[in-house]
Amino acid sequence: MPESPLALVTGASRGIGASVARALAPAYRVLLGGRDVDALADQAAETANAEPWPVDLSDLDGVRGAVAGIDRLDVLVHSAGTAELGTVEQAAPSAWRQNFEVNVVAVAELTRLLLPALRAAHGHVVIINSGQGLSARAGWGPYAASKHAVRAFADALRDEEPGIRVTSVYPGRTDTEMQQAIIAGEGREYAPAQYLRPDSVAAAVLSAVTASPDAHISDVSIRPRPH
Ligand code: NAP
Repeated sequence: MPESPLALVTGASRGIGASVARALAPAYRVLLGGRDVDALADQAAETANAEPWPVDLSDLDGVRGAVAGIDRLDVLVHSAGTAELGTVEQAAPSAWRQNFEVNVVAVAELTRLLLPALRAAHGHVVIINSGQGLSARAGWGPYAASKHAVRAFADALRDEEPGIRVTSVYPGRTDTEMQQAIIAGEGREYAPAQYLRPDSVAAAVLSAVTASPDAHISDVSIRPRPH
């Protein structure tokens, strides 16, 4: 029997990435990216056809080691991310650097290292961007700037690599630990029904990845519909 196609999902230890990994698992062998080895082991135990791929994406030597041996990759989903917020007046250089390191530089370098494997499979790169990657709101500058940058990265990659499909997904507020921390920082009460479910974002990713081969879904924007 031929081996299943391979998907690598970063940020798969929780949140949107974990949902994306579960959505892909029926059709793909899935590598689950993250740093929390216990959470990755739990996700792998719950997800058929999945195995942990533990690496800190801001450790570029570690990333180089972790991609060794991947010579064919059908789907790469970048869901790992960080959200350091603050107004222009408040935000220290460290907040800008942290957002750019994880949300942009790590995405670019992991993709660059995996390009030969993606080309070999005529693969698909999906980037979990954000509504803040389309327009920036007050207090979100450092995060929004990194998401605008990774949108530009996706557009350049799509133009440069016609054999690879590249999809940017722009979710609004989604019910994850990241959103819980943001709402706590805003001093508001957390109301999950106001937000997207991670599974809804994963369904959008799956629909882009399973689009017929003649179709290239470049950008998907998803807003929460309070339920
Ligand atoms: P989350 O619940 O905070 O999960 C973040 C994931 O990223 C975790 O799996 C974490 O893994 C991983 N990660 C963070 N830094 C890492 C690093 N240096 N190396 C390796 N893995 C790292 O976040 P989420 O809400 O699922 O967000 C996923 C993506 O969606 C992010 O790109 C975020 O910007 C975007 N997004 C989220 C929302 C929202 O409302 N939640 C809305 C729009 C866009 P470990 O902890 O195991 O390292």
